[in-house]
Amino acid sequence: MPAALVDSHCHLDAAEFGRTPTQVADEAAAAGVRWIVVPAVERANFETVIAIAQQHSGCAYALGIHPMYVPRASEQDLVVLRERVAQALSDPRFVAIGEIGLDYFIPELKDGPLRDKQEHFFVEQLKIARDFDLPAILHVRRSQDQLLKQLRRIRVGGGIAHAFNGSEQQAAAFAGLGFVLGFGGAMTFTRALQIRRLATSLPLEHIVLETDAPDISPSWLHPAVNTPAQLPRIAAELAELRGQPVADIAHQTTQNVARVLPRLGSLMMA
Ligand SMILES: [Zn+2]
Repeated sequence: MPAALVDSHCHLDAAEFGRTPTQVADEAAAAGVRWIVVPAVERANFETVIAIAQQHSGCAYALGIHPMYVPRASEQDLVVLRERVAQALSDPRFVAIGEIGLDYFIPELKDGPLRDKQEHFFVEQLKIARDFDLPAILHVRRSQDQLLKQLRRIRVGGGIAHAFNGSEQQAAAFAGLGFVLGFGGAMTFTRALQIRRLATSLPLEHIVLETDAPDISPSWLHPAVNTPAQLPRIAAELAELRGQPVADIAHQTTQNVARVLPRLGSLMMA
């Protein structure tokens, strides 16, 4: 069993698991997942993810408003986020701003007023990350270049582009801005040629592992609900694709998370 794996993206508070966060986290720990990063998605779940991270020894959290939750978010939510982030700085389990980003896959978010609204929320949250010198956890869907444009304008301390599905050139651009790329369930499908090619060719220093549970079930589980306990098998899949020992994959991807999420890096060493 590979030691000290980190699930860099898991919505442990999601109802879809049909079990308590404790049951899901314990099962992952038993499978060899030492840390789980739980991103928030909207103001209404900030306190939930904070409580989950404080109740489970292997959990850390991020605070942010996910692009798919932007339609029902208000300007006041950004004010609350900034205040909550300022408070959370004294909590070592708080590690990033996230999940934030741009989603141009969903038609309603791609055009019209919601396109502007999600860009506004993304930009304002990047400013929060910049102002507090925090990394960001990014949701990038059909929006790589627009997102990179904002990242070049508003410099944050790097982070993770989660569930990455861009080109080699875009991957290099994220890396140049201090971001690593998250690979998970999508990589386990043989038809996902582009993602598998990237997972094979990118320097291992630019890759982190994630499940995005309860979403993006790996091929062997699909379409059942995904869980963080699947991470060791996802690591094994990456090891096989790259022709590298799984122990090296586990070691380096964990190092990578510690590097881009320095507050989690400190927790790991504590
Ligand atoms: Zn997510």
